[in-house]
Parts: sequence; C-alpha cells; structure tokens
Amino acid sequence: MDYLPIFLNVKGKPCLVVGGGEVGVRKASLLSQAGAQVTLVAPKLNISDELPLGCTYLAENFQPALLDGKILAIAATDNASVNEQISLEAKSRNIPVNVVDCPDLCTFILPSILDRSPLVVAFSTGGASPVLARLLRGKLETLIPQAYGRLAAFAERFRLLVKQKIPTPSQRRLFWEEVLEGAVAEKIFCGDEVTAESMLFEQLNHQKLENSGEVYLVGAGPGDPDLLTFRALRLMQKADIVLYDNLVSKAIVDMTRRDAQRIYVGKKSGNHTLPQEEINALLVRLAKQGKRVLRLKGGDPFIFGRGGEEIEKLAEHKINFQVVPGITAASGVSSYAGIPLTHRDYAQSCVFVTGHLKDGSMELDWDLLARPKQTIVVYMGLQGLEILCSQLIAHGLPESTPIAIVQQGTTQNQRVIGGTLSTLSQNPLIGQLQAPTLIIIGGVVNLRSKLSWFRVGH
Ligand code: SAH
Repeated sequence: MDYLPIFLNVKGKPCLVVGGGEVGVRKASLLSQAGAQVTLVAPKLNISDELPLGCTYLAENFQPALLDGKILAIAATDNASVNEQISLEAKSRNIPVNVVDCPDLCTFILPSILDRSPLVVAFSTGGASPVLARLLRGKLETLIPQAYGRLAAFAERFRLLVKQKIPTPSQRRLFWEEVLEGAVAEKIFCGDEVTAESMLFEQLNHQKLENSGEVYLVGAGPGDPDLLTFRALRLMQKADIVLYDNLVSKAIVDMTRRDAQRIYVGKKSGNHTLPQEEINALLVRLAKQGKRVLRLKGGDPFIFGRGGEEIEKLAEHKINFQVVPGITAASGVSSYAGIPLTHRDYAQSCVFVTGHLKDGSMELDWDLLARPKQTIVVYMGLQGLEILCSQLIAHGLPESTPIAIVQQGTTQNQRVIGGTLSTLSQNPLIGQLQAPTLIIIGGVVNLRSKLSWFRVGH
C-alpha cells in the first residue's frame, strides 16, 4: 500500500486552493462540501460555474504566507513552477499538499468518491490510473443504491440504543446484519421510514432474528439483460426463491442468486402452467414461510402483466412487497427496431392495447384507435392480426398505413416484418414468427428504414 487511506475531518478548518480554472473550483467545492473553510487564490477566475457557497476568493498570486494556519493545500494552477513552489512551501510547513495530476509533488492524493453520505466510498490507484479508479467507482455506483445513505443515517440513529439493548458484540452484529440486509432496509429504500422504525423496534424487543418474508415484483424488461434496472439486479441477487415465466429469458434468470430456488410458473397464452390464482396463493405461502420471493416478470409488471392482481393478495395478507418497473415491450422493442413511438411529424400520441382474442374477437375501442397521427402498439396481437388490420381500415385508417411486427425484440432472435394494413397479414413470413411478437402501427414505422441500428447475429 503506497498511501494510507484516511477520512479527514475538515469541518470549519481553513484550507487553501490555488488556481482559478475549473479544476481549482472543483477542488474548492469538494472541500466546501466536507465543511471546510476554503480560500481560493488566483489572479483571475476562468470558470463557468459560480464559486461554492462560503468560499473566499482572493484575486492575487500565490504567496507562501497564504499557507499560514492552513491545514491542507491543493495546487491546481496551469503553471508548473508555481505548483512546485506551493508543494515545497507546504511540505516545509508540514501541511498536507496535493498538486493536481502531479503525484510526485503530492503528500496526499484525492480518491475517486462514491458519495452516499454518510456512507462514503473512496477509490484510489495510488495515482497509477485515476481513470481506472473512476471506472471502478462507476461499477459500484450501480450496486450501491442512492438510498444507502438514508440507510446509514437510519442505522446511526439507533446505534446507541441497540448497543444498550444487545450488549454482546457478536449478537449485535447479527442483529445489524438482519436489519441492514432484510425487510427493514427494503422499507427504507421504499421511503417508508416509519414502518422501518417500528419493524426495527419489534426486532429489537423480541430479538427475533429470523427473516420476515417479502415479495419483490420485478419487471425484467423485454429480453436483453442489459435493460434490467439496478434495483431489479440488486433484488435478483437477494431473493431466496425466484418465480419466473416464459417471457423472462434464460440469460436473465441465470443472473439471480446462484443458490436461489427457481420455480417456473410459465404462462403461454391459454396454456398456463400454473393458474393465476395459484401463483397468487404461492407468493403468499412462500412469503409467510419467511422467504424473500422474487416474482420476475417480462417487461413491466404493471403493463399487461397482471402484476396488480398478484400484489393485491399480498396486500390483503399484509405481506411486505415492492414493485420494480421494467422496460415494457413497447418501449424496448420499438427502440431496438428503430421505430420512435412518437415523432413531431407522424405521431403525437401513442396507445398500448392488448390484442388478446376473446371468443375469436377483439374487444377494442376501434374509433379511438383509428385516429390520425397516433401510434398503436399491440401486445399479444399475432393471432388476431387479420382482424386488427381489417377493423382499423373499416374504422377509417388508410390501407397504406405502415405496420410492423417484431419477433423477440431486443434479443439475438429479433426479427422485424414490415408492411401496410392491407398487405401485412398476407405475408407468408408471418407464419414463421416465434412468440413473443409485438405489433406497431402508424406513420412512425416508416422511420425504421433510416433509424434501425440493432443488428442480430444472423
Ligand atoms: N408485461 C409485459 C407484457 C406482457 S404481455 C411488458 O410490459 O412488456 C406479453 C406480450 O408482450 C407478448 O405477447 C408480446 O406482445 C409482448 N412482448 C413482450 N416481450 C416482447 C419482446 N421481447 N418482443 C416482442 N414482443 C414482446
């Protein structure tokens, strides 16, 4: 280890920054954020932002006397000899000094910082590659939710009380692990501190260290694992049991915790592996056993996903749950097919409908759909494609209205077939399509020839 990592308390302490460019001001802001009393010295300022609040600016050249009484100095001028002088003078006074981008002149270096105050993570490569430190920080940004700061502040509030109630350190550690990784933490992440607090008290008073069950209803997006949200990924790696259906790709299911139990509750239209009521009941049963249950659904759970029904039962049984939105097929598939759903020239509105057939017909408000300058996205519409096209024509859309059908959008099997309302259903390729497929109708579909960007392997 070339440097000793420490966190320095600079609150109310005088610090000096020399340099009037963007970098100098950035360093001054950083020190101000940590509560330091900053003096910024430079003959003139060359910045686009304002100086940080509470920072004193002196319009003059650096002089060694400016270091008097300072506890820390940063040099960020564009003059190498001035930077060197600052370094020498600071060192001779035993004041820690940093010269931006000159590790040789520094007695301390500034890490790349991930700030979830009061939780702060600092990264450093000891000056070897600040960019690498920044990249690593970026990776961790995705794993440490913004709300971890709130969680740390919450834990701090109860630290003393817990210490009094649970005097044995090992027991206390167990208690905190349970709180910080369990249902209490999830409540904080959902913004419900009141419930989090009462749950913490309950655990503290009964010292009941076993998990209370909960359900995460998570949208897995349209297929490409890169389209998962950070929260989805975090909960996928936390859950004990995963219930997933056939819209969720194997690549995504494989990203759940390695030792989690996986239950396929596949749904293909009309051919449910488990009827909806049984899925609802299973979620309740598993959560009551104290399990963390991940209900992983394709796209967004609240868009044609019956997600609402699944959590209704949980709410009735007072089981903790949270819902994580996913990228819905309309949004993901249209992006990957190069079809913007709205466009100033072609569509001012966009409607999502289900084309699911009921007794061989489609119950849709055709007048509402057959409007000019509107994009229609049809989920589950392949079976009813012919009815769909002919009804839209019958209700006033031109026969030449562009339409596209996209198979397994965002995946390596994505395939797009385009046509018009009068031609598409006659296309023999339609018969080869494999579920899931999404239909997009409207003037925006023509933009595909210009905007398509996603290429699949074959
Ligand atoms: N909750 C999901 C939709 C479930 S309904 C969501 O928000 O996306 C299932 C329908 O979604 C399928 O019949 C199909 O029309 C559409 N769909 C889902 N993923 C798709 C994909 N990758 N490509 C094309 N259509 C898709």
